[in-house]
Amino acid sequence: MEIRQNKLTRQWIIFAPNRKKRPKDFRKEKTREELPEYDKDCPFCAGNEELLVHPFIIETPGINYNPWQTRVLPNKYPALEPDKSTFRSMEGIYIKMPGYGKHEIFIDHPKHNICIGLMKNEEVRAVIETYWMRYNELMKDVRNLMVIIFKNHGPEAGASLSHSHSQLISTGMVPSHLRVQAEEAQRYYDDNGRCVMCDIVGFESKYRERVIIENNSFISFIPYAAEVPFEIWIVPKRHEANFGDISEEERITFAEILREAMKKLYEKLNDPDFNYVIISAPRYKAGEPHLHWYLRIMPHLTTRAGFEIGSGIFINPSLPEEDASFLKD
Ligand SMILES: [Zn+2]
Ligand SMILES: [Zn+2]
Repeated sequence: MEIRQNKLTRQWIIFAPNRKKRPKDFRKEKTREELPEYDKDCPFCAGNEELLVHPFIIETPGINYNPWQTRVLPNKYPALEPDKSTFRSMEGIYIKMPGYGKHEIFIDHPKHNICIGLMKNEEVRAVIETYWMRYNELMKDVRNLMVIIFKNHGPEAGASLSHSHSQLISTGMVPSHLRVQAEEAQRYYDDNGRCVMCDIVGFESKYRERVIIENNSFISFIPYAAEVPFEIWIVPKRHEANFGDISEEERITFAEILREAMKKLYEKLNDPDFNYVIISAPRYKAGEPHLHWYLRIMPHLTTRAGFEIGSGIFINPSLPEEDASFLKD
């Protein structure tokens, strides 16, 4: 038994390998291969445009004989609304604001049964270009203090449609979860004069125990204090606060490493349900020397229980070093 601290949040994680299954016991039974290439009832499939409630915002040109490659549309059931203000008001002792925000859906691929792990490199690149374009477009609106790009894959991760898609939500506030990370990073910078994520990348690439894959500009590893089995981070090696600032070359290498990480999860754990999210500096923090964007993948292989909710401390039955060597194999 061991308790480790997440350097980005100072949160503690309990590692309890006695509750452990072997890594291969986390494998799922069903696979995506049972899905058809085209589903007549799926609004995201090419050819089913009449099922879309809203016209799409952008479309990228098709590659590998696809009619189009990615599409962005407004969410049919948005969590937030674009035509509201960010004006705060009081209700007795409480504070509230109108539900301003934008909620977009990205269709990652025209085919129904393809996911990131099964795509070709240039197809994943189109997904990343779409993320990058929309991120920068929405950051132009001064009301958007935070732009979160994420993916829910599989029913356990909250995906209601099996056709591969991603989402973007922008808001007019910075949530405490991100503020805590920013404050911890600031504190670390004050103490050491270095970015905490740059130090993590330096340490992981030296010791390599938890590293899964690496290329010229990105490194992917299981974090030292992973909250859940097979949590994976993909981090740019160059210090960069804002995802919107990455270069064309970095968008290519980011797509390559994301595809490879997704492929490993797909093959080794048989297409597990997961969420991933791009954690990038909030607007007023962009460009800061202490903030470093990254992509965080959280597979859904265990269930959160009362102790986690009460304490905020996760119990992870799986050791990061063992998970990394299982994925690397
Ligand atoms: Zn579909
Ligand atoms: Zn850094």
